[in-house]
Amino acid sequence: MHIYREPRVTLIARLEFREPEHMPVQWMGEASGGERLAEFAGRICYMSQRNPASRSTAVYLDNIKKQGHGSVFEHAVYVLLIEGISRSCTHELVRHRAGFGYSQLSQRYVDESEAAFVMPPAIIGDEAQERAWQSQMEAAQAAYIAAVESLMTRYSHIADRIHRRKMAREAARSVLPNGTETKIVVSGNVRAWRTMLELRAGEGAEQEIRRMALAVLKVLQAEAPSFFDDFEVYQGEDGIPAARPAYHKV
Ligand SMILES: Cc1cc2nc3c(=O)[nH]c(=O)nc-3n(C[C@H](O)[C@H](O)[C@H](O)COP(=O)(O)OP(=O)(O)OC[C@H]3O[C@@H](n4cnc5c(N)ncnc54)[C@H](O)[C@@H]3O)c2cc1C
Repeated sequence: MHIYREPRVTLIARLEFREPEHMPVQWMGEASGGERLAEFAGRICYMSQRNPASRSTAVYLDNIKKQGHGSVFEHAVYVLLIEGISRSCTHELVRHRAGFGYSQLSQRYVDESEAAFVMPPAIIGDEAQERAWQSQMEAAQAAYIAAVESLMTRYSHIADRIHRRKMAREAARSVLPNGTETKIVVSGNVRAWRTMLELRAGEGAEQEIRRMALAVLKVLQAEAPSFFDDFEVYQGEDGIPAARPAYHKV
């Protein structure tokens, strides 16, 4: 049985900014395509392509955050593949609606007989609890396999094998625990990512999604620092890393 002890976050898509030839901007400083696009969008509002204040993209975008002019952040979209998180974690994640799109592994179609499981951060390092948890996962997986088998027999009169399997799996999955590992593709614009990160990387968030949010933050900060570098990672009062933005809900 494969056990995940931390999530895996991979950036799988970013946008390409194509500057219109007839409206060039006096850029300053290095920046990614998404950051340039947001600056371009912001400058359209005031037709300030000449960059009269000689601001670098980083300084310009920091001012956007300060002013709360976050709608220009909606143009820049990043798509992440997130693996090694539990179904309970994605249940919380998909509550973030505005500006997000999701595609998640289907337990109706995919055989979970060899599913992986995500160990709750709270028990990692406690050998006795880890052992107990693992045997609970093994029991649940065995129950799932048995349920699929007996449901396949029950529905043997259904000629279409794919449909029969789907009927068996969709019922059998009810015995799988919240800790079952899942995979999800998440596309989100920068404004949406920031709001999610503020809520889920904070100390009030549940530990697994908090850990996932920190992993997402790391990837996005590396990709587009000007959008996310006001997030400070710190040690929470509970001794666990957390993050908070300098600018609340832009
Ligand atoms: C620590 C924590 C504990 C939680 N506990 C629970 C719980 O016990 N039970 C539970 O059900 N949920 C719980 N949630 C989920 C929470 O209620 C939200 O559903 C989740 O955080 C998504 O937030 P959001 O709606 O702001 O995000 P999004 O849907 O991404 O929306 C972003 C922002 O857009 C605006 N917006 C979006 N939709 C609308 C709308 N329809 N009308 C007006 N404005 C809109 C709002 O300003 C909103 O903040 C919890 C969340 C956290 C962080």
